[in-house]
Amino acid sequence: MSDAVKLTCLACEQTNRVPLARIGEGPKCATCGAPLVAGKVAEIDLRTHDKATRTDELPILIDYWAPWCGPCRMMAPEFARAAAALAGKTRFAKINTEDFPEISSRLGIRGIPLLILWHRGREVARLPGARPAAEIERFVRDRLRLPA
Ligand code: ZN
Repeated sequence: MSDAVKLTCLACEQTNRVPLARIGEGPKCATCGAPLVAGKVAEIDLRTHDKATRTDELPILIDYWAPWCGPCRMMAPEFARAAAALAGKTRFAKINTEDFPEISSRLGIRGIPLLILWHRGREVARLPGARPAAEIERFVRDRLRLPA
């Protein structure tokens, strides 16, 4: 039986197991103490990206962006608002494709911003282009069949 979910700490990359019932209680990483389910956007590197997308048992929505991209910067506050709205349901992170260009070629990313929703080691769906918070939230709820 498994009433706990595997979560990669988005700060230190350590794997944590969190009982599902505790997801809403502000669980912290056993190694570094960072909140595991913060309702905020975590800036991640390639190693953390790969671990979280391959092993996490709570959905994670990742923003593939770059500092030179105007629409990316415009979307950032919208993405943060959606992260707060979906706290405990889906974790939010962003990765700078300028710092980690290999991620763009591996995932076949031709334009940014691009959002990819991941769950249990597989890609669930992509949402290209800058979007308002409500649209990002609806995209996640639809794809995960969460009640509105
Ligand atoms: Zn940690």
